Amino acid sequence: MDYDDMLDRAASETAGVSDTDERLTVPDPDVRQEGSVTVVENFRTLCDRLDREPDHLLQFFQREVGTSGHIDESGRARITGAFDADRIGDATEAYIDGFVRCPECGLPDTRLENEGDVTILRCEACGARSATPSDG
Ligand SMILES: [Zn+2]
Repeated sequence: MDYDDMLDRAASETAGVSDTDERLTVPDPDVRQEGSVTVVENFRTLCDRLDREPDHLLQFFQREVGTSGHIDESGRARITGAFDADRIGDATEAYIDGFVRCPECGLPDTRLENEGDVTILRCEACGARSATPSDG
């Protein structure tokens, strides 16, 4: 197989991913320990896939694992403490359940809207408006 064939193949495989599957395809968190800090290497990709603001997802991670963190200049999340990929993956799942997937129809075609102090999950597929988990 020559190089052009490989490009064609890569392109067609990419196209195959974007079907109308109801399930959200989110990559597993790519997590690395750096001293006492957990670095989520593909944090930006996660946010892109979820179509959410990185700051919002980071805030949620911080609440979920009970620590502090920030986003570095490369778009990676750096979270204080040692957390493995399973822990970050669980937090990502919880985020999807609370802030991405519509509880009415199960589709991820949603937007977050602020109403006063309350964040509403509005579904563009079925029109449902749902409460999101409170900040506590
Ligand atoms: Zn819906």
